[in-house]
Amino acid sequence: MPGNAPRPLEGQVALVTGGSSGIGAGVAVALAAAGAAVGVNYASSPEGAAAVVDEIERTGGAAVALQTDVSREEQVEALFRGLLNRFGRLDILVANAGIQKDAAFADMTLDQWRTVLDINLTGQFLCAREAVRIFDRQGRDPGRSAATGKIICMSSVHEVIPWAGHVNYAASKGGIMLMMKSLAQEVASRGIRVNGIAPGAIQTDINRAAWETPEALQRLLALIPYGRIGLPEDVARAAVWLASDASDYVTGTTLFVDGGMTLYPGFRENG
Ligand code: NAD
Repeated sequence: MPGNAPRPLEGQVALVTGGSSGIGAGVAVALAAAGAAVGVNYASSPEGAAAVVDEIERTGGAAVALQTDVSREEQVEALFRGLLNRFGRLDILVANAGIQKDAAFADMTLDQWRTVLDINLTGQFLCAREAVRIFDRQGRDPGRSAATGKIICMSSVHEVIPWAGHVNYAASKGGIMLMMKSLAQEVASRGIRVNGIAPGAIQTDINRAAWETPEALQRLLALIPYGRIGLPEDVARAAVWLASDASDYVTGTTLFVDGGMTLYPGFRENG
């Protein structure tokens, strides 16, 4: 970002889970460019997290890499303690870590079901719970942000689009949607805003098979009215907006960043 770019998150501290790759890495870099100090959580790629921290520090920002499996309660508590030790406060949580373990329903193992629900849904619960506890302790600081704290849940268009062969993943994202809305309702009076982002097809490792070959990309583009695959930066710009005071009256909503994937593209030619 150019030196004179607006920095709506100046003086704030953010934590991004699954921040060492893909959408999380893009979000971490964009939050830092907007002025936030950023905790870059990673599960298994210290190199990926170090590269994101490097990129942020090279442009004058502050960041720290923190290893955690977000599905483990004691590790999540340690993650937030680590962030507070380093930066002293928390203003923004982007609960982004997620995985797929795809299988035809009749073949899906309990382990495939549980692992996806544990990381995608329970992981967001554990992280959001720590964030709410910290926001409540800190209280509101209008000089820093209009809200007491902001939580952004990385969902998916599959919070509303059913997805055969990915029942565990779609169930986790549908769960995230109602967790996000119920939590938003519960904590709004304490000044905490909770929203979701539902990306469509974003070019990252998680969906490499869907864009890697020209044939696969062609099939994917048939589902995207806007005519291009999304990039992590497309999601990152939405995250910066949802984290900033520009969206101060927005809570309990999902922002779809999907090039129109949820617009029933099959009906484009008159149904
Ligand atoms: P990605 O695989 O690059 O990112 C997922 C990240 O989560 C990785 O960095 C991974 O290490 C981390 N992670 C996995 N298990 C973890 C754990 N137990 N603890 C902590 N971190 C863990 O893929 P991505 O596309 O950047 O996905 C990011 C989020 O966006 C996910 O929640 C995914 O469901 C969602 N999403 C992606 C797309 C897309 O098209 N790429 C679309 C909709 C939603």
